[in-house]
Amino acid sequence: MAARILDGKSIAATVRGEVKEAVDRLHARGVFPSLHVVLVGDDPASAVYVRNKARACEEVGIRGVTHRLPATTTEAEVLALLHRLNGDPEVDGVLVQLPLPPHISADRVIDAQDPARDVDGFHPVNLGRLVSGREGLVACTPAGCMRLIQETGIRLQGKRAVVLGRSLIVGKPMALLLLAAHATVTICHSRTRDLPARVAEADVLVAAIGQARLVRGEWIQEGTVVIDVGMNRDEEGRLCGDVDFEGASRQASFITPVPGGVGPMTIAFLLRNTLIAACARRGLPPPF
Ligand code: NDP
Repeated sequence: MAARILDGKSIAATVRGEVKEAVDRLHARGVFPSLHVVLVGDDPASAVYVRNKARACEEVGIRGVTHRLPATTTEAEVLALLHRLNGDPEVDGVLVQLPLPPHISADRVIDAQDPARDVDGFHPVNLGRLVSGREGLVACTPAGCMRLIQETGIRLQGKRAVVLGRSLIVGKPMALLLLAAHATVTICHSRTRDLPARVAEADVLVAAIGQARLVRGEWIQEGTVVIDVGMNRDEEGRLCGDVDFEGASRQASFITPVPGGVGPMTIAFLLRNTLIAACARRGLPPPF
C-alpha cells in the first residue's frame, strides 16, 4: 500500500485563507488584530522562526510586532515587558519564543502571560481548560495535527491513537485532543517498554520525540495514519522527521512529510489562535 501524502503546505494555505477572510471582516468593523512576539537573545533558529511568524502575520493582515531583547536581558525585564503587553488593549496575542537564555525561567515567564492572549496555549490556565474540556487557546502544533487528521476523513471515535512524546508543547495536549475526539489514547515516552509493539497498535500515530527516523516503517501496521511532528537533522544535515518516511509510506494510509507536513500547520494555527484571542477578548463572536 502506498500512503497518501498529507500536504501540510496546502492545508495550511487553506487555514491561512480562512484566517485572512476573518481578519478582513474584523478590519471592516475597525478592529485590527495584533500579535506580539518576544525574542530574547540571538539563537539563530529562534530568529528564523520569529521572522517567519512576522511574515505570516503580514500576509493575512494581522499586525505583527517583534520585541527583540539582548541575551543579557534579566528575567525581571522580560516580566515587565509582559506586564506592559498584558495591560495594552491593542495587544491581542503574545508569545515568548522558546528556548529562553538559561538565566530566565520559562515557567515564570509563561505564568506571567495573560491566558487570554496566550496564543501558544502554554499557560497552565489554557492547559487546564484543555484537560477540563473547556474552551481555551490550544497549543498550535497539536491543533494543527488534529486538522491534518480531520483532512484524512477518518473518524477518531473508538480508534487507537498512539502519541510518542509527552511534552507540554506537543505530546500531552495532542493526547488530550485525541481523547476529546473519543480516541483510545496511549502516550509513550523515553521509559516506555517495547515501543515497536505500542506503535503497531496505532490506527493513528503522532510522533513527537525529536529523534531522527527512530520509528521504523516495519513497526507500523497497514493503514495507520502517521503524523510526524519531529524536526531533526540526519547525519548528512538534512531535515527529517521522527519516522522513517520511506518505510512508513509503504504501510501507512496517510503520512505527513518532513518538511512540508506539520511545520506549516503550526504557524497557520498561531494566526488562527490570534484571531480567536482577538475576538474573545474584545467580546466579539468566535471567528471560526
Ligand atoms: P521534547 O524534547 O520536549 O519531548 C520529547 C519527548 O519524546 C519526551 O516526552 C521524551 O520522553 C520522548 N522521547 C525522547 N526519546 C524517546 C525515545 N527514544 N522513545 C520514546 N520517547 C522518547 O520535544 P518536543 O515535544 O518539544 O518536540 C518533539 C519534536 O517535535 C522535536 O523534533 C521538535 O523539533 C519537533 N517540533 C516540531 C514542531 C513543528 O511545528 N513541526 C513544533 C514543536 C516541536 P521523556 O518525557 O521521558 O523524556
